[in-house]
Amino acid sequence: MITGFSYLKAKSVKEAISGLSQGNARLHAGGTDLLGCLRDRVFTIDTMVSISGLRELKGIRETPEGGLSIGALTTITEVSESRVIRDRYPALAQAALEVASPQLRNQGTLGGNLCQKPRCWYYRGEFHCLRKGGDTCYAFAGENHYHCIFGGNRCYIVHPSDTAPALTAYEATISIAGPAGMRNVSIDRFFVPASEDVTRETVLEKGEIVTGIMLPSPSGELKSSYRKVRARQSWDFALAGVALALRMSGSTVADARIVLSGAAPVPWRPVEAEKALIGNVLSPGSIRRTAALSVSRAQPLKHNAYKVPLFRGMIEEELMSLSN
Ligand SMILES: Cc1cc2nc3c(=O)[nH]c(=O)nc-3n(C[C@H](O)[C@H](O)[C@H](O)COP(=O)(O)OP(=O)(O)OC[C@H]3O[C@@H](n4cnc5c(N)ncnc54)[C@H](O)[C@@H]3O)c2cc1C
Ligand code: SF4
Repeated sequence: MITGFSYLKAKSVKEAISGLSQGNARLHAGGTDLLGCLRDRVFTIDTMVSISGLRELKGIRETPEGGLSIGALTTITEVSESRVIRDRYPALAQAALEVASPQLRNQGTLGGNLCQKPRCWYYRGEFHCLRKGGDTCYAFAGENHYHCIFGGNRCYIVHPSDTAPALTAYEATISIAGPAGMRNVSIDRFFVPASEDVTRETVLEKGEIVTGIMLPSPSGELKSSYRKVRARQSWDFALAGVALALRMSGSTVADARIVLSGAAPVPWRPVEAEKALIGNVLSPGSIRRTAALSVSRAQPLKHNAYKVPLFRGMIEEELMSLSN
């Protein structure tokens, strides 16, 4: 049962920031994750601050620099169906289409997708684990089939968002409004690794709101894609996923971003694999080497070693399909 709270329907970003800055308030965008957290008592609130009526946070606009600005309240469906995103940032459109079910994509927003809470079943259950301020990670010696193989450090969640790896591959910037004004944060620094702090997922401070996501112009010849493997064909979170963005110079890879989902507490870049690919053509040999390097630092837990060959095979297949 959800315990009582007051409800503020903000009429401006300023009013939302002010409401959020007080007491135990939480932001409501589409509510698809927030309401589940409240129902499961992951946390309680005394005020729900809804930004769902703020038109200025909706929509997709081209910037004068040739990039895109996507409002935080843009729905996942709008992202997946946008012609400009499908043409210029196909990995993001593909990732959005992989999120949940059509109903949830119609209701869920891009900002909420980046700020959603982890799906670890202990965290969502009645366990007062480390991430909730307790002193034990129940997953480490427990049921860790869906947990991380990289970047675990006292907490072993995987980052749940499908769009975050695609936005990371495209080097997005997150626009944030808060009590101290506006700031922009590179998506590479927006998510908090478990090694830094296991009690928070993003760098957002009290009262801060994601207002939009900025994508730079896809300069040069960019090949990109998103691939997700899940346990069930119907809606499900990623067992393993990969977003690729390869900047080509003729047939040679001039720059590479490989970003894994379902792998680590944050969208995970196997940087050695990226470096090994740069300067090479996409040949079967370089692709096999890159896929092997991508998982060379994996540290699986007792029940999730199956993810290592899964990631390796998936990365190899996805690079092969980009090479055609
Ligand atoms: C059954 C189910 C299946 C799902 N499957 C997937 C999946 O396969 N892939 C996937 O990526 N996601 C999945 N999700 C998660 C969900 O669909 C997404 O998280 C959705 O995009 C959340 O958006 P929302 O607007 O509903 O967020 P809300 O529920 O409103 O908010 C989520 C959290 O983010 C915070 N928040 C929201 N907007 C902002 C903002 N602008 N600034 C700061 N904080 C903010 C809220 O306070 C809250 O803590 C699933 C969810 C469910 C219930
Ligand atoms: S993996 Fe993280 S969220 Fe899950 S039980 Fe361990 S500390 Fe809690």
